[in-house]
Amino acid sequence: MGYDYLIVGCGFAGAVSARCLADRGRKVLIMERRSHIGGNSYDFYNSFDILVHKYGPHYFRTNDKDVWQFLSGFTEWRYCQYVIKSCVDGQLFDFPVNLNTINQFYGTRFSSMEAKEFIEKLRVKIDRPRNSKEQVISIIGENIYNAFFKNYTIKQWGVDPSNLDASVTARIPVRFNKDPRYFESIYQAMPKEGYSKLFENMLDHPDISLMLNTDYHKDKDGINYTKLIYTGCIDEYFDFQFGKLPYRSLRFEFENYEQEYYQEYSQINYPNEYDFTRVVEIKHVTGQKISKTTIVREYPESEGEPYYPIPMMKNEQLYLKYKNEADKLRDTYFIGRLAQYKYLNMDQVVKESIDLINKLE
Ligand SMILES: Cc1cc2nc3c(=O)[nH]c(=O)nc-3n(C[C@H](O)[C@H](O)[C@H](O)COP(=O)(O)OP(=O)(O)OC[C@H]3O[C@@H](n4cnc5c(N)ncnc54)[C@H](O)[C@@H]3O)c2cc1C
Repeated sequence: MGYDYLIVGCGFAGAVSARCLADRGRKVLIMERRSHIGGNSYDFYNSFDILVHKYGPHYFRTNDKDVWQFLSGFTEWRYCQYVIKSCVDGQLFDFPVNLNTINQFYGTRFSSMEAKEFIEKLRVKIDRPRNSKEQVISIIGENIYNAFFKNYTIKQWGVDPSNLDASVTARIPVRFNKDPRYFESIYQAMPKEGYSKLFENMLDHPDISLMLNTDYHKDKDGINYTKLIYTGCIDEYFDFQFGKLPYRSLRFEFENYEQEYYQEYSQINYPNEYDFTRVVEIKHVTGQKISKTTIVREYPESEGEPYYPIPMMKNEQLYLKYKNEADKLRDTYFIGRLAQYKYLNMDQVVKESIDLINKLE
């Protein structure tokens, strides 16, 4: 049988593209090398009956109404606001840094205006920050940088912040109000029955076929298709001909407890102690009511599954060599975080997948 499209990967990029194509009457085959759908947003009920996120917490948020409406066709939502704390010297602080963080850290009782004036004197005046360290100290000064950012970034990325792109920390806001939320997006919610259920509903279409445990590079022969949408690693597609694109990986250590909650918040960051970066208790945001709980500790590693592209100039240059090759191919499209070697949130991937299919069909 022939397919209009072969799609490699069943994360948001692959599944959203598949659904948009099928809704336009195209026949689609998805090949996924893992044993499950959902890509990195995959969740499942563990042996303790707790809904857990296998590849780290996935907090859905977006400002894009089209993305929100598209996904709402496949799930109901549990509205939530994500609140995260950072543990410094044994105390929990609001994070991202806000007025409470500043007052607690400096033992002050500043108003918003006073805190701004205070930080203005502390911040290091750098017009165009060239790296993550300069980016943070130019906004908030050295003390808070050293307490909250420096060691966290070293653990997370395995390099000093002065060697990392400014874009890494530019995503983290600093607020002079008391807003304790992690994000300010208009829509913040978890799929009511989980991400995997959302994916199941999205893929439930007669023109979408799915092969799990199937690797494009090993199993593509004999598959008859006209166009290819590839959401795997771009360097792997080209057989690593220019070298391997480096990624930061993670090891997840899950632990179950016979008690309702382990900690007060869904996420606590540990910038300065331990080898793990954060402890996540996802139950706080999935809203599951159950007398037991599961937590996960995240240990950054240099080897393993490719999670975070490392934003450094030399890696970007290597990626561009692959992109140059990709641009020469006909009827082959590279989307998603691995194919573009770019950290993208779920909503960004949904948006670009919808846009790609609108352009193609
Ligand atoms: C630890 C962590 C936490 C995150 N938290 C958030 C968050 O809170 N909020 C948010 O919006 N985003 C978050 N993200 C980002 C989110 O995971 C991505 O936006 C999303 O996964 C992108 O979807 P994708 O389809 O591009 O990639 P993926 O979800 O990675 O899907 C790609 C799929 O392709 C498959 N594949 C690759 N190569 C092949 C091959 N050769 N053959 C067959 N299949 C193949 C892979 O197995 C994978 O399933 C987080 C990411 C990580 C790593």
